[in-house]
Amino acid sequence: MNKPDSPPDNPGVSLSPTGDPWLLTPGPLTTSPEVKQAALHDYGSRDSHFIAVNRRIREALVEIAGGRDSHVCIPLQGSGTFVVEAMLGSFVPRDGKVLVLVNGAYGTRIVKICRVMGRDFVTQEAPEDVPNDPEALERTLAGDPEITHVVAVHCETTSGILNPIEDIARITARHGRGFLIDAMSAFGAVPLDAREVPFDAVVASSNKCLEGTPGVGFCIARSEALAKTEGNSHSLSLDLYDQYMSMERNGQWRFTPPVQTILTFDRALQEFAAEGGVEGRGGRYRKNCRILVDGMRRLGFQTLLPDELQAPIIVTFHMPADPRFQFEAFYDGLRRRGYVIYPGKLTVAESFRIGCIGRLGEEEMRGALGAVEDLLSDMEVESCAPAAA
Ligand SMILES: *Cc1c(COP(=O)(O)O)cnc(C)c1O
Repeated sequence: MNKPDSPPDNPGVSLSPTGDPWLLTPGPLTTSPEVKQAALHDYGSRDSHFIAVNRRIREALVEIAGGRDSHVCIPLQGSGTFVVEAMLGSFVPRDGKVLVLVNGAYGTRIVKICRVMGRDFVTQEAPEDVPNDPEALERTLAGDPEITHVVAVHCETTSGILNPIEDIARITARHGRGFLIDAMSAFGAVPLDAREVPFDAVVASSNKCLEGTPGVGFCIARSEALAKTEGNSHSLSLDLYDQYMSMERNGQWRFTPPVQTILTFDRALQEFAAEGGVEGRGGRYRKNCRILVDGMRRLGFQTLLPDELQAPIIVTFHMPADPRFQFEAFYDGLRRRGYVIYPGKLTVAESFRIGCIGRLGEEEMRGALGAVEDLLSDMEVESCAPAAA
């Protein structure tokens, strides 16, 4: 397949099987040729095959979350943020009060959603390189009986930090409050099992660790909690209760279904199962992450996070202080060599990010490291050490 913007001046670069650069980003990300191929069909929304595919996807997602007898899956059109907003609006009653645990841009986005929706909220904040603090949560819940729901981000993609979701869930349950999780960038790669971690709802999307194409989010909801959400939502299209009831009635989507995204997601979930589920997928990402971190450290880069806080999803590196290291040139040079990375989103330090997720393995990670090394030499960068703190 020819792509007009594939790197023309580097005939030797290794591109994906469809001639695209490898995406070392937090999503959208590189998908398999078979996943993309699965989109080459049309179905009407009432088609029985299409309805069966939807059922299969929803069952597979509940299974991944360990919620077979307790939870249901509600898919929703849109990017991940749509389903985050839908979860907050549907689960938090209009007179509810949310405690948002914030240590990055996605926690901050949840706060913004609460503000826009007009839900009362308080925050418990930590710097971007520090996990949510369970002890502070304990104190806040003990001191504020009006808090109805706690919201946390499993892997804060801003830095790549892993938050202590099991501890947060346990404390929140002990205080009898609802627990809502944005697990967008962790679901499918970092274990989260409803039989061990009590939660009312967790949301994620098709295009992160499940390696589908973008366009659909989903909520895994505890049935008992979902049953109490009728009439909560401020929004028609983002009402998960209505979306669920409608889909249960006839197996169809309320509004135009993202047909091709569903078809590619179905194929992606088959590949996920074939890889060994969360264990297999998470294992490949952990290996990718190890290769990346070791290789970048060998070149002199420093990671933002110590290894024990790092989720195997995306790694933040400090920007080198050497003035010959210009991020735009670094980004463009890697793009020409077939690898797309991601700018930093931190407030605590100048940084950039490299992802380990998507249809990538050892070969691609080593290829990316080779490209970085080659580029540093072209740029005549002498040291990749960050500015002294
Ligand atoms: C990707 C992501 C989202 C959703 O982002 P969209 O751009 O709307 O898909 C939400 N939360 C986290 C933690 C994410 O990584």
